[in-house]
Amino acid sequence: MSQQMSQQPKKSPKTIYNFSAGPAMLPPTVMQAVRDEWLDWQNLGVSVVEVSHRSPEYAALMTQAEADLRVLLSIPDTYHVLWLGGAARMQFASIPLNFLAHGQQAGYWVTGTWSELALAEAQHLKKAYCIANAQDSGCAQIPPQSEWRFEDNTAYVYYTSNETVHGVRFAEVPKPTKNIPLIADMSSDILSEPFNINDFGLVFAGSQKNIAPPGLTIVIVHQDLLNTALDGPIPTMLDYRIQAAHQSLYATPPTFSCYMAAKMFSWIKAEGGVGVLQQRNHAKAQCLYDLIDASSLYHCPVEKPYRSWMNVRFNLRKPELEPLFLEQAARAGLRALKGHKQVGGVRASLYNAMPMEGVEALTNFMCDFARLQS
Ligand SMILES: *Cc1c(COP(=O)(O)O)cnc(C)c1O
Repeated sequence: MSQQMSQQPKKSPKTIYNFSAGPAMLPPTVMQAVRDEWLDWQNLGVSVVEVSHRSPEYAALMTQAEADLRVLLSIPDTYHVLWLGGAARMQFASIPLNFLAHGQQAGYWVTGTWSELALAEAQHLKKAYCIANAQDSGCAQIPPQSEWRFEDNTAYVYYTSNETVHGVRFAEVPKPTKNIPLIADMSSDILSEPFNINDFGLVFAGSQKNIAPPGLTIVIVHQDLLNTALDGPIPTMLDYRIQAAHQSLYATPPTFSCYMAAKMFSWIKAEGGVGVLQQRNHAKAQCLYDLIDASSLYHCPVEKPYRSWMNVRFNLRKPELEPLFLEQAARAGLRALKGHKQVGGVRASLYNAMPMEGVEALTNFMCDFARLQS
């Protein structure tokens, strides 16, 4: 056998960049670490998904995870961190059920699919109104402050910091006029850039965009807001005070997603923290938007100041080419670029785990595709 043949390297699999909006990609080093300890976690001879959520090992894991999250987001002790099972959308119900008393109402900024659904659920259960509605502009921008309208007896105001479907973000935290608690759905941009938790009464995020596999929703709630929670009737599992009193162990938590979240927090710490990720995320999004804006084929429907850094949405000026674009992209290893069915077009989700190389692979492909069509 020739030297060359016997040393034939193992063929490395083709690099795939996964632009899925959620469940989304996680860092390869995190996935490898999980694989390596999958069958034997902490020398217990069993997997992390086979141990009790009341075991000392799991308790230590969660103590560390919470400590890491508090450092990463500078969360003071005046806030509770809750690790809840269920989808992010469950909070759409929990929030009004916990905080909206009879005779009160809540105000919602409607800037896309997720805030629209949150308002609808609040109205289904209690009384809520729209502070401003971006749907008139096709959610191409966040309505200016001059159009915001607050009503009397407002118990809290609510917004979605990043609209995952429409690719729109609040560039600044919307501060209510009076001292009304602010609540934010940060499901698709938590940990992508620093924010000041002290501006908020409550922040929540589903895990499957920027944190872990689905099944976990993290709720960060100020103790003063928690103290105003209603005495009922609230389904026990949705009662924030009960979850806080039981350290999120009232029922079995989604242990695997919590474990993955812990791994992700360690990864973010090792990368240099949320500030480092912010710079990276901005550079990634800017790279893609620059190409879109310079191109005669691609077009971003969102106005510049409001463009999401996490979910870059764009269209082809020749819409009939979109299926071909998506098909060729998939063949080039660029997967899950199809826009949400509500808005169509193309969407590239660039969460923390997406490396710059993935964005460059996408922009190179887009340049080649545009050149062949012109
Ligand atoms: C994905 C998403 C949701 C819904 O998440 P589920 O866990 O499926 O309920 C809510 N809000 C935002 C901003 C999202 O991106």
